[in-house]
Amino acid sequence: MTNCHPQLETLVKQAATEAGFDWAGIAPAPPAELRELAFFPGWIAAGRAGEMAYLEARDAQGRLKRASLDHVAPWARSVIVCALNYNTAQPYSTECRDPRRGWVSRYAWGGAEKPADYHDVVMERLRRVEARLRAAVGDPQLQTRCYVDTGPVVERVFAKYAGLGWLAKNTCLINQQLGSWLFLGVILTSLELAPGLPPPDRCGSCTRCLDACPTQAFPAPYQLDATRCISYLTIEKRGTIAEELRPGMGRHVFGCDICQDVCPWNRHAPATSLPEFQPRPEFFHPDLEWLATLSEEEFRRAFRGSPLRRAKRSGLRRNAVIAMGNSGDARFLPLLKKLAGDEDPVVAEHSAWARERLGDHSERVPSRGGRSQG
Ligand code: SF4
Ligand code: SF4
Repeated sequence: MTNCHPQLETLVKQAATEAGFDWAGIAPAPPAELRELAFFPGWIAAGRAGEMAYLEARDAQGRLKRASLDHVAPWARSVIVCALNYNTAQPYSTECRDPRRGWVSRYAWGGAEKPADYHDVVMERLRRVEARLRAAVGDPQLQTRCYVDTGPVVERVFAKYAGLGWLAKNTCLINQQLGSWLFLGVILTSLELAPGLPPPDRCGSCTRCLDACPTQAFPAPYQLDATRCISYLTIEKRGTIAEELRPGMGRHVFGCDICQDVCPWNRHAPATSLPEFQPRPEFFHPDLEWLATLSEEEFRRAFRGSPLRRAKRSGLRRNAVIAMGNSGDARFLPLLKKLAGDEDPVVAEHSAWARERLGDHSERVPSRGGRSQG
């Protein structure tokens, strides 16, 4: 299908603004230059994705779905990219000095005034843009498909080709005005729409993000070893976390923002007033003791509709125990002693490690070789 409505690009951008997006643009599908996706099979083969099996999804021919749109939507001619700012006017999570509290990634703080998973918040807006487009085109043959985060597409790459920003040394997409606190959603369409232009890379000689990463997760600029990244370790990794990585995790219990916090392009990033993204106190700086002792019932109730549930109860308890070990606060020792006998062997082993880190060397339970099981 070719574009017989030159005003459609304008309509799409207008519809996106009216739906509440902060930015929208159009990328060709597939991008003329696939340099950013060419790395993907090698990155997967090197095990950089860890346990994130969804990244390794393959089609019937055994091709990685995320490596090319041709594999999953050969009919797609354009990708509409929409961005929603989730930054709120709050300090960095690591600025919380209370050793009894953990750090949570900015994107997962939300739900204070209105509980909502960000996937739903973005998808609901995408559907409005999609409906406007379909109504304007009026052709039942028109193909469209919306994705937020979980689709077989690398949204950041299309966002770059839509003109939203550049793929930075910390591997995030950065917009010169909005910074990098952005949720992305895409609409694949069989329409040929006029694409945007990728902006220049504005990282220059800066290396702040690379230098600040506490677990040395960047083997080189523009490359991330997800298996060393605190976001992966606290959210996606199940079971034991390698001992060598635990001290660098600090009091992070869900995600990590450090390589974005230090980025100069986020210094003046605008803040949103969307009620869905205003922080919930218990997610903003959660009480570590509360997290480590969560019952199944409490976990289900407290994290319904929150991104934090992705870490699962066992993962959040494990992360809280590591954070206690890194807190320097010996008041956690009695609880850690109790948790060292926890019915969850992962919580028990990490509690023993945390006790030792806090200076209690009695009853040390050795971990399984100190290596990740993944
Ligand atoms: S999110 Fe944290 S751990 Fe991951 S690369 Fe950035 S600074 Fe490093
Ligand atoms: S901190 Fe510096 S190098 Fe890293 S993404 Fe920001 S501008 Fe680029």
